[in-house]
Amino acid sequence: MTSSTALVGGISSAGRALPLLDGAALQIDRSAGAYLWDDAGRRYVDTALGFGGTILGHAPEGVIAAVEKALRDGPLPAFGHAREEAAAAALAAQTGALSQVVFTNSGSEAVHLACRIARAVTGRRRVAKIAAGYDGWYDEIAFGNAGTPEADLARNSRPEQGDIVLLRYNDKADTEALFRDYPDIACVIAEPVLANAGCILPAPGYLAHLQETARRHGALFIMDEVLTGFRLHAGLTSHTMGLDPDMATVGKAIGSGIAVAGVLGKPAVMEALTDGRAIRAGTYSGNPIACAGVIATMEALKTADYPALLAAGAGLRTRIEARFNGLGMAAVTTGLNDVFTLWFTDQAPQSYGDAARVARPDLTLALHKAMRRHDALVMPSPYGRVYLSFAHLPKAVAELGDSFDAAAAELAQ
Ligand code: PLP
Repeated sequence: MTSSTALVGGISSAGRALPLLDGAALQIDRSAGAYLWDDAGRRYVDTALGFGGTILGHAPEGVIAAVEKALRDGPLPAFGHAREEAAAAALAAQTGALSQVVFTNSGSEAVHLACRIARAVTGRRRVAKIAAGYDGWYDEIAFGNAGTPEADLARNSRPEQGDIVLLRYNDKADTEALFRDYPDIACVIAEPVLANAGCILPAPGYLAHLQETARRHGALFIMDEVLTGFRLHAGLTSHTMGLDPDMATVGKAIGSGIAVAGVLGKPAVMEALTDGRAIRAGTYSGNPIACAGVIATMEALKTADYPALLAAGAGLRTRIEARFNGLGMAAVTTGLNDVFTLWFTDQAPQSYGDAARVARPDLTLALHKAMRRHDALVMPSPYGRVYLSFAHLPKAVAELGDSFDAAAAELAQ
């Protein structure tokens, strides 16, 4: 089969695919703060924010200046450079007991490395992940992502493939059963919130039980904070929740849109990388541009007003729900206040089973199109998320509310 574009399917990452609107494709020309502009010069309030890739808004001044300087100083020295340690120190200053850092180029790579470290530390191979959780697109871990047959099967059975085995979210009995059946688990990896399946919150005590059960069976507990890290405060969401993971993976927000991610770990665990039990490498890992992005982002987050951002998000959620409900449509939002999902139902989903049952791809797609007509971009998937950044405060949050109001009126017709 031949293609009309040189770029396979017209995009490099499947999540970027957007439907045509009135026969036209959307191409982004530039982005700044809370906004994106398309190639016709039309401005949209953005809620995808590079899939959560920045919490400061697009192209924040301080980060761009630091990255420009790093680029001019030479983007790839091959050898050690001062920005690398400075970036690690800036990150580790915010992450408590997880005081050791390794940089990677993407969240998927960070998850891959964290699992490798856990395998080296425990001498075991098997990895347990949450069914419908998204921990990146690498071969093993992509098994059981939301929307796959395996994720659906996990509602009543225990799908596995190679060394990966799936856990049922928010189900303590399933955690106990897993470790009874598989005594050889190297690590459990989970997000603080099941974000990629529509921001489903953990039931009270669920993650603490998961952590405790993993430890009791000699497995490491990894929090995948690629999406949630630095969203509730300048640090890890798992720490806010009182959890004590052995490692955490971070990415997205830590670099404000620059390609950088990393594994954070306790010294006793990360030793595996320096005593020869596990290897890490990468031409671009910890490059000066990535590190400049982290240093400048950490600096900016020191004075960022998280309470104001979270309050604005809470207000927007209430406004959206009230608008749809007022028009006679069921609607509820789930998640953290600066990253949440809108469902067209009355009850917030508590499990992936609930989410799959109430997902309304037809309405989500209609909302996406209506929002585009009203100058805002929301993801077209029922599991998609609305992200807010500090750059949205307060004007773009209000504009977003207006777009939702107008789009809701169209959907209710
Ligand atoms: N883990 C989580 C929780 C994510 O949300 C993502 C990306 O969306 C990843 C891992 C993979 O990160 P990346 O897209 O940078 O490879």
